Amino acid sequence: MTHQAEAITELKRLGGWLCLDFMNTAERAGGEVVTDFLKSSGDVLLWGEQAGILTANEAREQASNEAALNEARAMREMLYRIFSAFAGKRPPDQRDLEGFNRWLREAMGHLQIQLAEGMIQNNWYQAPSLYRVVLWTVIRSAFELMSAPQLGLLRECAAADCGWLFLDTSRNHSRRWCDMEDCGNRAKARRHYQRVKRSEG
Ligand SMILES: [Zn+2]
Repeated sequence: MTHQAEAITELKRLGGWLCLDFMNTAERAGGEVVTDFLKSSGDVLLWGEQAGILTANEAREQASNEAALNEARAMREMLYRIFSAFAGKRPPDQRDLEGFNRWLREAMGHLQIQLAEGMIQNNWYQAPSLYRVVLWTVIRSAFELMSAPQLGLLRECAAADCGWLFLDTSRNHSRRWCDMEDCGNRAKARRHYQRVKRSEG
């Protein structure tokens, strides 16, 4: 495990965009998930609460739902493959784009605005479940990032066992690791070790 987190609520959010933090609920090596922080369907809702999508009551009142967990993971990996391709300046897989568009059409068919105390709010019309509310919000966020200039700042962590995605807003756009405290430090320690070994050898 690259990132230490006992619970989904302890996981760092350093993607810089809501959908990226959702993709960063797993660690990957060679594109395959090696650590999954979404351990239960409840984690999907807790993540949604922390992201400001659900209220605390909504996030805690749901029975376990294996199908919802599998769906959330599958959608997350589809998004990861698409955005990992963007980060690597590669074209995404056509099937993934079709899958993305299916999700997008479903979500957008439910998006609406409402007036609440004189303020315009947007919400989801007739969402069948709170899981859908979380996943639709993630999909909308992904669509917004694809349409935003910040997409050009998208990077994938240089560590071989991380796979986290982030927006590089550093001044000279030279950020290589998701987090200097985790992946950056490990890389530094490894370089130091190799230097010591060389000078000893
Ligand atoms: Zn990393």
